[in-house]
Amino acid sequence: MIEKQMKKAAGTAEWEAICRRCGRCCYEKIDYRGKIFYTTKPCCHLDTGSKLCRVYQQREQLQTDCVRLTPELVAAGILPHDCPYVQDTSSKKVGNED
Ligand code: SF4
Repeated sequence: MIEKQMKKAAGTAEWEAICRRCGRCCYEKIDYRGKIFYTTKPCCHLDTGSKLCRVYQQREQLQTDCVRLTPELVAAGILPHDCPYVQDTSSKKVGNED
């Protein structure tokens, strides 16, 4: 999915369906000099067995630093390189060093 299509699809069922539910982006991250590094510490709401958020529908209220995934965030490079949202973009500034 190219960037224009991503912007159009953001927030839709089509957008949500891109996620393969690996849970990787639900681990704490460190921004070091503009590069994102993932830690091994999961969000307290992540079920590490199923890799699903236990409070997905209320996540933004219960976890105030949880951010809704947008095409802009994908382009900012916060997701792992192998995330399907990253794979679907041609931008070179996406994906973290993981
Ligand atoms: S890293 Fe990508 S595929 Fe995995 S849970 Fe996050 S958004 Fe979904």
